[in-house]
Amino acid sequence: MKVAIVNNHKEKTLSVVKKLKLLLKETDIQLNQLQPDIVITVGGDGTLLNAFHQYYQIVDRISFVGIHTGHLGFYTDWRDYQLEELVDALVHSTPESVSYPLLELDVTDDEGKKSYLALNEATIKRMSQTLKADIHIKNEFFESFRGDGVCVATPTGSTAYSKSLGGAVLHPRLKALQLTEIASINNRIYRTLSSPIVIAPDEWITIYPESQDDYVVTLDSHELRHRRVSRLDYRIAKSQINFAKFRHTHFWSRVEDAFIAQKNNNEQF
Ligand code: NAP
Ligand code: MN
Repeated sequence: MKVAIVNNHKEKTLSVVKKLKLLLKETDIQLNQLQPDIVITVGGDGTLLNAFHQYYQIVDRISFVGIHTGHLGFYTDWRDYQLEELVDALVHSTPESVSYPLLELDVTDDEGKKSYLALNEATIKRMSQTLKADIHIKNEFFESFRGDGVCVATPTGSTAYSKSLGGAVLHPRLKALQLTEIASINNRIYRTLSSPIVIAPDEWITIYPESQDDYVVTLDSHELRHRRVSRLDYRIAKSQINFAKFRHTHFWSRVEDAFIAQKNNNEQF
């Protein structure tokens, strides 16, 4: 088995990585950053997002394992003190995996069409003036949007940006995309639905922004560079992300732990 490690650069993370490498050295597991079977991330959810974007081209062939060195994350369910247990599980069991949907974003601009994959969400925003765009669902006109922008999130992304925008938290086993509005203008002239929508697995969303050159298109933690975007299509990707299922934290327990539970800083999980 070949393992790659992706980490952030916090002091605590670096000491965990050092210990993890020492433990792996005593096994048959090889470290291979280029062609891994398993990608272990050490850090937070943001670290796992970065790792996903490093390995998106081989995402179907690999599984992720997330170790968190801060708070319990949504993509990271191993604690830093469980390294022995993790390495033991890697050596003794072929991990089953659990797969979650990804978002495919196709951006069409002056130069043609380009496809991207997102794990959390993709947004289009405009900063000082408003974004004006027609939104279609499955090739049918839905609404004319005017406001800061819109966000389309995956089920696992529903606890991130989408939640801050008033979106519902979706169980990650649902194959669905959720569209939320970012500060829409609603008056007698401009009218949007004003509530989040969740589309079916075989549907897609198309956004036709009015021709301007100052849109910001984001994909998870990244900002995409495109000039004169004429349309954006959002659909559930054919590829999925796989997580090695050694441990499995009940999804709603994670939600409870992240957003509701009153815990002190020395949280135990
Ligand atoms: P960041 O600005 O450092 O992180 C934003 C926060 O979102 C961090 O606490 C991160 O957790 C958390 N997070 C990431 N994915 C999550 C998920 N699926 N469920 C729940 N929380 C999640 O940037 P980053 O760490 O690279 O993360 C990028 C993400 O930030 C974007 O994909 C977007 O979802 C989110 N974001 C949110 C807002 C907002 O809510 N207003 C605005 C912009 C971006 P960790 O601390 O564990 O990394
Ligand atoms: Mn982060």
